[in-house]
Amino acid sequence: MDMDRFGHFIDGETRAGSAWRPVFEPASGEIYAEVADGIESDVLLAVQSAESAFPAWAALPTSERSRWLETLAQALEQRRDAFAAAESRDTGKPLALARNVEIPRAIANLRFFAHAATQFASESHHGEAGLNYTLRPPLGVVAAISPWNLPLYLFTWKIAPALAAGNTVVAKPSEITPATATLFGQLAADIGLPRGVLNIVHGAGPAVGEPLVRHPAIKAISFTGSTAVGRRIAGLAAPELKKVSLELGGKNATLVFANSDWRAHLDTLLRSALQNAGQICLCGSRLLVQQAIYEEFRDVLVERAAGWQAGPLDDPDTRLGALVSQAHFDKVLACIARARVEGGRVLTGGHTLDRPGWYIAPTVIEGLGPEAATNREEIFGPVVTLQPFEDEAHALALANAGDYGLAATVWTRDLDRAHRLAAQLRAGIVWINTWMTRDLRTPFGGTGASGLGREGGLEAMRFFTEPKNVCIALR
Ligand code: NAD
Repeated sequence: MDMDRFGHFIDGETRAGSAWRPVFEPASGEIYAEVADGIESDVLLAVQSAESAFPAWAALPTSERSRWLETLAQALEQRRDAFAAAESRDTGKPLALARNVEIPRAIANLRFFAHAATQFASESHHGEAGLNYTLRPPLGVVAAISPWNLPLYLFTWKIAPALAAGNTVVAKPSEITPATATLFGQLAADIGLPRGVLNIVHGAGPAVGEPLVRHPAIKAISFTGSTAVGRRIAGLAAPELKKVSLELGGKNATLVFANSDWRAHLDTLLRSALQNAGQICLCGSRLLVQQAIYEEFRDVLVERAAGWQAGPLDDPDTRLGALVSQAHFDKVLACIARARVEGGRVLTGGHTLDRPGWYIAPTVIEGLGPEAATNREEIFGPVVTLQPFEDEAHALALANAGDYGLAATVWTRDLDRAHRLAAQLRAGIVWINTWMTRDLRTPFGGTGASGLGREGGLEAMRFFTEPKNVCIALR
């Protein structure tokens, strides 16, 4: 049987790789496709193509760039089922999640920035020193490097604002999940997006990502991925004084107070812990629960988590998907083993599932404090810990322990407490009585080891432009 081959998309055309690497189907553990294994010369070609396309793309009226993004959104909408099926197969996530959440969000990203392009305005300052106005031209050619956990969702979250602001793009999706980015390149060709405006180079981080980051024509790098790679990219970009936006790991806390409506929100609480098998940077992997309800909450959580069943990915009742790769599966199992060594009690899960593919049962662990590596290091799997707290101050201290600062979620009916905590939690995003509810206009990103800079709305449009102030003397 012929295998799918995912080629690069450079200068408006699909290009074969000089070598290929296997792509695995996580739900079976089998190879199902091959992806181009890019090298530096592929990056050079892609950047050259993006440089050639830049002047014409930047010169388009914003309303025309907006129309291109809207056309991409419509084309993606028409092929939503095919993209969802490809995403589900490539990542091991339930089809319903890809179809109802992630592909629609990719469509929304394109549409949002189609509108943002026409609504973007620059500042003017008058009265203190003449008349000042700020121009915001695009940067030129920019790089977008994205991870495997929400492949098309995060890919479009970067390329849409970059294109809307008038840049041309060289994108590098994760080599582990290249399917939907490849389909997206075909979509761009199908709608006739001008050649070179969007280029996609597949391959490994060191072989493709690094030459891309280092390339002198690349003016900015928008990266989402691990903290370790984010640091590496920051190190490569700093001497060249390139702009970077780094969306990195998380170890998010979920604070459940005794006076919250936690029973009514159990489904959201469970999703916040386990959605996408916990492979979402925003998942709350540390559940902090007020002492008065701790035991009751724990018992209900354990029972409900154990009910998250694996099954055929296209079965709407399947909630538990696979982990994305053998390496990641091994890493998560090692984290569970370490939790046991640290003295954690595994209340449910902690084991693989007796089926093909890289499945780990939903795992709930208690008995570990904030100093434990299990509570400090990102696991990125279907693994949550429980820690009891006495009062608000104790909850805050536990939540703010550790190096990460991406998101925090608070469940309480006390409005004063909600606002107090929102101001004091060390996180770029705080949700009160909800989780992963997103208004695309809001700043998105984290602090500390969770990254640098913010995506979303005007923040993203500003990131992808170079402010230039013009001062006119008024006499
Ligand atoms: P990763 O850092 O291993 O890889 C991310 C991307 O960077 C991939 O495309 C990879 O090929 C590339 N890359 C790897 N080494 C590189 C290098 N030396 N130079 C340039 N590029 C390189 O991350 P991952 O394992 O794909 O994704 C999981 C991580 O992403 C988790 O830590 C998760 O928390 C994080 N994440 C963060 C957010 C956020 O918004 N903060 C969102 C999703 C995922």
